[in-house]
Amino acid sequence: MLVFSLHLFIILAVERIRNQFYAGPLKDADESMNVYQRNEDMLRQEKSAASAQTGPQSAKTESEEYRLVAREYFAKYRGNLETSRFTIRGVEVGADKPLIIAGPCAVHSYEQAIAIAKSVQEAGADMLRGGAYKPRTSPYSFQGLGLKGLEILAEAREITELPIVTEIMDQLKVEEVGYYADVLQIGARNMQNYALLRDVGQYAAEHEKGVLLKTGPLPKLKEVLCAAEYIALEGAKKIIICERGINNPADSMRNTPRPNFLLELRKATYLPVIGDPSHSTGKRDLVPRIAAEFLDAAANGLLIDVIRDDEKETIGGEKVCDYEQGMKASDFKRFMTEIKTRKVPQKWP
Ligand code: PEP
Ligand code: MN
Repeated sequence: MLVFSLHLFIILAVERIRNQFYAGPLKDADESMNVYQRNEDMLRQEKSAASAQTGPQSAKTESEEYRLVAREYFAKYRGNLETSRFTIRGVEVGADKPLIIAGPCAVHSYEQAIAIAKSVQEAGADMLRGGAYKPRTSPYSFQGLGLKGLEILAEAREITELPIVTEIMDQLKVEEVGYYADVLQIGARNMQNYALLRDVGQYAAEHEKGVLLKTGPLPKLKEVLCAAEYIALEGAKKIIICERGINNPADSMRNTPRPNFLLELRKATYLPVIGDPSHSTGKRDLVPRIAAEFLDAAANGLLIDVIRDDEKETIGGEKVCDYEQGMKASDFKRFMTEIKTRKVPQKWP
């Protein structure tokens, strides 16, 4: 408790000092200039290295607009790298085995989050997901436990040793969420919040954290890749993209999953791309089939909402976040045995 209070005190003190010097959450102009100058220098160097090995670049192509993440632009001088591979707290991302991130949509209570964390760990998940700050359509819906939720996630990590994936929605919370998270999730609604992308990219670069970028509610391929580019441009190296379906007003489903879009992303970038069969369908009975479709479409992994077997529709008087799409823990366990032998294709025709 003492350590926690001390930590909160430090966060608030840093925030206060920051606010004295800066008019808002954005970096001041000089500092930004330096960052961009540095990045431009880096890009120039990388580009001349590319030219040295691949010959002069042709005229500006669309993929140059997301040159740091484009497979086409980097393939040659990164030694024909198929997918970037990296580790987060010892967990391999971009490997032959699909990366499985699972957990509650939102942390509602200590008991709920710890029980789900233990069951997904026992089932063989690689990372634990869970929202402490939740982007909810209605302001009257449960908004997440905030800092308390992050503390619970940190305890779940202590117990299960699973790295934590949790959403960051607010530039002012980057330090706080970043302190607890191993992977900072940018939600669909914030895919084009460029100021947030930059701040999260910079934090992730400085602290070697991962970033999970979810595809927006109705994005073009280029928009997703350019959003990833914003993060990469700040120096973040451990970026994962997650296809989470599109908001189709003509459709009775919550969202429509797009395995073909995931495959297009895989072709366009060397960053690992995973699929979210939970938010892209909104219905638990569809999750295993759509998950399989994502894996068929060369997904590097999956992000899955899980609830307890005996989960009620409410916890502590609040409706359980995304209850209808949460896979029951025992179904998740079965699903994990079904996909045990799955390999991630590293090449395709
Ligand atoms: C989530 O993963 O909890 C979430 C809110 O997803 P999305 O941003 O895709 O809606
Ligand atoms: Mn959710």
